[in-house]
Amino acid sequence: MVQDPNPNHAAFAEMPATALIRSKSDHLVSLASMPALFETLARRPAGQAVPVASNVEYELNIASGGRGSMNEMDGIGRRSVLACPDCHGVMWEIEEGEVVRYRCHVGHTYSAEIRALH
Ligand SMILES: [Zn+2]
Repeated sequence: MVQDPNPNHAAFAEMPATALIRSKSDHLVSLASMPALFETLARRPAGQAVPVASNVEYELNIASGGRGSMNEMDGIGRRSVLACPDCHGVMWEIEEGEVVRYRCHVGHTYSAEIRALH
């Protein structure tokens, strides 16, 4: 579900516009329509379970307080020359299509524009 990026519906149109470019959405709705659609979708029976990609599962573990080993981090990205602004550890560069982001083994994450994601 993505908010309609029309300036009449979105105060910050760039965010939903970027979501539309970078991902496939099933629903494009105004902010005012989202609660009703969430309720409708939540009442539908769940579909088949979808296996989670190992790199996503690994990053979720790090983001929820786990730590990544150097070898495991090498599996999701490549070591960069950048140090984490928070813990000063090595940052791994992770490419996902046109999006590049950085993550340290502690879990701090940054976009290429150096804005904290978590
Ligand atoms: Zn860090």
